[in-house]
Amino acid sequence: MTERLFKKLVLVGLGLIGSSIARAARKFSAAETIVALDASREVLSRVRELGLADEATGDVRSALQGADLVILCVPVGAIGAAACEIAPYLEHGAVLSDVGSVKASVIAQVAPHVPRGVHFVPAHPLAGTEFSGPDAGFATLFQNRWCILTPLEGENAAVEELAEFWKRLGARVEAMSAEHHDLALAITSHLPHLIAYNIVGTADHLERVTQSEVIKFSASGFRDFTRIAASDPTMWRDVFLNNRDAVLEMLDRFNADLASLRGMIERGDGEGLFDLFTRTRAIRRGIVEQGQDTAAPDFGRGVAGKGASKAQAS
Ligand code: NAP
Repeated sequence: MTERLFKKLVLVGLGLIGSSIARAARKFSAAETIVALDASREVLSRVRELGLADEATGDVRSALQGADLVILCVPVGAIGAAACEIAPYLEHGAVLSDVGSVKASVIAQVAPHVPRGVHFVPAHPLAGTEFSGPDAGFATLFQNRWCILTPLEGENAAVEELAEFWKRLGARVEAMSAEHHDLALAITSHLPHLIAYNIVGTADHLERVTQSEVIKFSASGFRDFTRIAASDPTMWRDVFLNNRDAVLEMLDRFNADLASLRGMIERGDGEGLFDLFTRTRAIRRGIVEQGQDTAAPDFGRGVAGKGASKAQAS
């Protein structure tokens, strides 16, 4: 039998990511015991019904007894309060981590609560869907996805252990500074979500003018934006509020590029448009070549509305 990496894993917040970790940790034998800790009775009863953990409880003290890995899986805006609540019960030598989509803000919120002797290793698995809650998770969510660690100084042993844990769950692991993470994710994840929220919001206003043609003709590019714009409102509100500077920097660059694109259309600069679209097509090919998406047309959806594949986001 495969050796377990951790004795007792406690997941704080059993939504999409927390419940996916629970499922994956069991499937890939990453922990001997898995405990679900959540403030919501409904979430806990659903966790029990689904059999996601060995124990599902709202009792912080008993949940954390003997825990050697604790992962905070709550929205970024709630992570400081969650860390404060569990801190007195964390055991000496335990590894404390999180999955928050923003790292500098999470470190600022969590680090002051971490007791001496507890090893805090911030992390962010670049995997997700537009769904939320314990029913939305699945064990293979992290397969071949990146998990970025943003370690603090002097935690090498804990970083190694956590990296092994994520590799066991199927992820590829890379380490970088929290600031670098936040800037990189602002362009690869946060800005695309902002654009999707904006375009679907604009279409919603136009809907009154076009009388449902937005929905009726959504098989074109608009549909792909609606998937991203269906992402969890709490999670994404917190991402933008907590990665404000990097998102604003990327938004300024985006606005400048959009103005230049507008200029090309206005001037009838077909060569400029063609050059840009050729470069962007190559980026898509690179993503497929690196195994980060399917090469199938239309993301492998087949006939519109049928067999939609589980999409990846972060
Ligand atoms: P989710 O499905 O909405 O689950 C969040 C969980 O946290 C729920 O169990 C929720 O309980 C609990 N929670 C919400 N507010 C709370 C609060 N104020 N205090 C304590 N618990 C609270 O969200 P998720 O998608 O799993 O996201 C969790 C974390 O993963 C976030 O930090 C997010 O940035 C990160 N992340 C998300 C994705 C993604 O694509 N979704 C990808 C990578 C990382 P209730 O249902 O009772 O509110």
